[in-house]
Amino acid sequence: MNSPGAVRSAAVRIDEVELRVVALPLVTPFVAAHGRVDVRTAVLVRVAGPDGEGWGECAALPEPTYTAEFTDGALLVLRDHLAPRLLTAAARRSTGLEPTEVAGALGPVVGHPMAKAALELAVLDAAGRAAGAPLARTLAPHPPGPSATVPAGVAVGLLPSPDDVAAEVTARVGEGYGRVKLKIAPGRDVEHLRAAREVGGPALVLVADANGAYRLDGEPGADDDARRLAALDELGLACLEQPLAVDDLLGHVELARRLATPICLDESLTSPALTEEALDRGACSVVCVKAPRYGSWLAAADVLDRCAGNGVAAWVGGMLDTGLGRHANLALAAHPGATLPGDLAATARFFTDDVTGPVVVTGPPGGGTLDVPTGPGLGAAPGEAALERLTVTTHRVRL
Ligand code: MG
Repeated sequence: MNSPGAVRSAAVRIDEVELRVVALPLVTPFVAAHGRVDVRTAVLVRVAGPDGEGWGECAALPEPTYTAEFTDGALLVLRDHLAPRLLTAAARRSTGLEPTEVAGALGPVVGHPMAKAALELAVLDAAGRAAGAPLARTLAPHPPGPSATVPAGVAVGLLPSPDDVAAEVTARVGEGYGRVKLKIAPGRDVEHLRAAREVGGPALVLVADANGAYRLDGEPGADDDARRLAALDELGLACLEQPLAVDDLLGHVELARRLATPICLDESLTSPALTEEALDRGACSVVCVKAPRYGSWLAAADVLDRCAGNGVAAWVGGMLDTGLGRHANLALAAHPGATLPGDLAATARFFTDDVTGPVVVTGPPGGGTLDVPTGPGLGAAPGEAALERLTVTTHRVRL
């Protein structure tokens, strides 16, 4: 490779797309304002051809309660609409398809960003493997380049009581996590976060994620939400994530004026253009970057480039990812534009079994880190035995 960014435009020949639905039981059910996950089903994708293979993961959750996408729907759109378009585009030139061309090839299909990002990731992995270049370097090709480690951060689901929160946060800090993101919902917010702050101390980077569960004054049934959220200002949160509905950009502008706590948006930021608009309007001052939400790992890296260029705080979010998505998120979080610790947690926090080897946190209580993968591409691939154990169905798509 002549330059670290060259993998983005390195063509790979692809003649087969393999889709696997895997099922990973969670250590404990994960509960957020949008629902509960007991078993993490996910679609893994593998592209293969004369230049080798590459893997990706679709972040869609088992049910369409967080976003419109869900595992079984993602499988259908990948199998019947996206994989055939990818294969057609790859067959058009004898040299194959470049990672930068994937989004355009899939563009005629409306929506389904998580499914699209899975295919782009697989092509990036294949191109990175062929070139011997780690994904972190491909996503952050410019100086200073990717970091070698990222700080450990964990998302904690909705818990029944502040005492449960205190016990959970104590345990997580003991495991090395210096950043905890607590899911909140009306009635399980201020006291829960206060308990987290008390046991975590002032050094804990504490984030609250509401997944859009609040409403501003005047809307039916929730006339005190803004006042409730103002009570968070004394707790020193790094940010309050997605307090209002996905499409309520103006509400977030209003809320940002009324709160001292920085507002971070997640679900609302479905494109780089909308991210810029939200920042310009003052709907948020912190950006949660999720490549699957943008439909593209390269687009997510571009968002981080722009955040870095404009001094905007950003961090990388997760989606209860299997080892493949976890490795990819580590690569993205190594980008210098990811200035705040993100949802980068050890495999063991969520799963007892995984398709890849485990991602681990090392370091002292509250100061743990994860190594950014240095191997070519994702730096990890599913093991045969693990796939055998965890695969529910397999589909192969060829032209
Ligand atoms: Mg979120």
